[in-house]
Amino acid sequence: KAKEQGGGVYEVFSCELYQAVQRRVLIENSLRKALDRGEFRLVYQPLVDARGCMTIGHEALIRWRHPELGTISPMEFIPIAEETGHIVEIGMWALREACLQTKSWQDEGAEKLGISVNLSGRQFQQPELVECIEAVLAETKFDPKLLTLEITENIAIHNERHVMSKLTQLKQLGIKIALDDFGTGYSSLSYLAKFPLDSLKIDKSFVQNIGGNAGEKEIVKTIIGMAHSLNLKVTAEGVETEEQLAYLKQEACDFAQGYLIDRPLEPEACLEQLVRRNGLGRPKVG
Ligand code: C2E
Ligand code: MG
Ligand code: MG
Ligand code: MG
Repeated sequence: KAKEQGGGVYEVFSCELYQAVQRRVLIENSLRKALDRGEFRLVYQPLVDARGCMTIGHEALIRWRHPELGTISPMEFIPIAEETGHIVEIGMWALREACLQTKSWQDEGAEKLGISVNLSGRQFQQPELVECIEAVLAETKFDPKLLTLEITENIAIHNERHVMSKLTQLKQLGIKIALDDFGTGYSSLSYLAKFPLDSLKIDKSFVQNIGGNAGEKEIVKTIIGMAHSLNLKVTAEGVETEEQLAYLKQEACDFAQGYLIDRPLEPEACLEQLVRRNGLGRPKVG
């Protein structure tokens, strides 16, 4: 069929390619100005303890409303921001914003509420990464013990020793480290033993297969067991069904996150959720 259409197919292809390149250039150029123009915001997805289903913290997830292109997914623009280096500034903005927001909920009475912020591998190339994080914590008066930085396995492909030393410094500040999207990388197992982690997040692709064949279930169970034997907490991401949550509970998974529990929420909705789920603001019993 392609042959019959001949040049037509080529034209369609080159046109699509052209549009993709054009979009990418536009995104790249507008990333530079997006922060100053206030086009980013954060939404917050609750993390609950898998047993009692109390909110123990949120994951901050960035959103970008582009003036011409509309909403752009972080899956599209974060990799570009990493390539151009803009992620360094954007990442620090997100950290500060998330700490300020969470601090305000803590001040409303959710004293032990945590926050998880995604840290890109590219940010480790910033020489003052640790000092900048420390400064944000000091400025926002945020307890480092309530901050978790989510990293992925690809952070250390270039300079493992450097990354390791930065992670150790962050740990010394009291910050917790979570390994995100666990199981999707090339070296998941070797990371567990090597890096100073506090928890791992089982990637949603495994969680979403819990309802499938027995083998998939066993994988999740095995990850939880292995993590616990290494003294790591386990979070399951992408929990969408009651069946998945029940299984995770049964296998003693520590925390859960997913559309079943809550979608990523605007800050106002988080506060309502804290009142409803954690009884925030109600007089304490006993
Ligand atoms: P992630 O850190 O693994 O975040 C989890 C993603 O799964 C989020 O997508 C979230 O909205 C989505 N999700 C949550 N529950 C469910 C569920 O039940 N089902 C399904 N199908 N999806 C669920 P989102 O918000 O589009 O973010 C995508 C990725 O972009 C994140 O993956 C993270 O790698 C990156 N990202 C987002 N915000 C930031 C940021 O501030 N800094 C950096 N460096 N990366 C970020
Ligand atoms: Mg994450
Ligand atoms: Mg994740
Ligand atoms: Mg993921």
